[in-house]
Amino acid sequence: MAVLNRLLLRVGARATTTSHSKFRAFSSSCSIVNPEADLKASPPSSSSSLLGSKLLPLRQDHHHPVQWVFLGCPGVGKGTYASRLSKLLRVPHIATGDLVRDELSSSGPLSSQLAEIVNQGQLVSDEIIINLLSKRLEAGEAKGESGFILDGFPRTIRQAEILEGVTDIDLVVNLKLREEALLAKCIGRRICSECGGNYNVACIDIKGEDGSPGMYMAPLLPPPHCASKLITRPDDTEEVVKERLRIYYEMTQPVEEFYRSRGKLLEFDLPGGIPESWPKLLQALHLEDHDDKQSAAA
Ligand code: AMP
Repeated sequence: MAVLNRLLLRVGARATTTSHSKFRAFSSSCSIVNPEADLKASPPSSSSSLLGSKLLPLRQDHHHPVQWVFLGCPGVGKGTYASRLSKLLRVPHIATGDLVRDELSSSGPLSSQLAEIVNQGQLVSDEIIINLLSKRLEAGEAKGESGFILDGFPRTIRQAEILEGVTDIDLVVNLKLREEALLAKCIGRRICSECGGNYNVACIDIKGEDGSPGMYMAPLLPPPHCASKLITRPDDTEEVVKERLRIYYEMTQPVEEFYRSRGKLLEFDLPGGIPESWPKLLQALHLEDHDDKQSAAA
């Protein structure tokens, strides 16, 4: 993982902390003129179809913990499946959206400007994200973590290039879901303010038409002890989700091609909710979840 901490040096990102030598090294090489403008990213200048499951390097032994990336539109379920896989493979699940939300709730110097960007559905700048990710990786490294499943990063070609410059990504899972389901899933998302658990009150029932199959996704309701503590993300309103989808197509979809051209992209069309999708995803990844099998058999 140490190699990933070269991220900061590669990007030349402005540090939010000056306590660490790597951050200072970067700070001094920084050429940002208007720090406020730089908080927000600018647009770029430019059924499971596994792209050869036999070709993709599905690295998963103890000596080489996986280094995977999850791509996909807002609401597709990156967090759900990345966190399940992280438990199964015993590697950290690192969601840059969570890092941003932690920064927001810390009421640090950046938080009010970041809140405005995030709540409007825009991307924060590559520098800020890489800075937050570097700090997270460094903290993990100090605890002896290795391997990772990244969720929500990279989201721009520049982020993908920086990541490629510092480490080898084994596999990029590109989750896909029909757009009508994406919007409903974001709007129905609820989070327990106490334990951080993710739930969904939406019941998605898309009728099949013109030869396309229907899709049913049952709500994922919270246990009773979370039910009274549910909150909605401020960026999960219909208007903001539509903007987030627009930004995804503009800024992040090119990242799919970046990895496709390198033979690392696993395209996975989610067939429905967790009960249908999880076993199929495991199958596509050549993995088995013994706990899941046991609970299904119980
Ligand atoms: P998410 O939870 O992944 O939907 O992320 C929430 C918000 O955090 C996004 O809408 C962006 O404003 C910000 N964010 C998360 N990851 C990134 C990234 N890799 N690049 C830029 N902004 C990000």
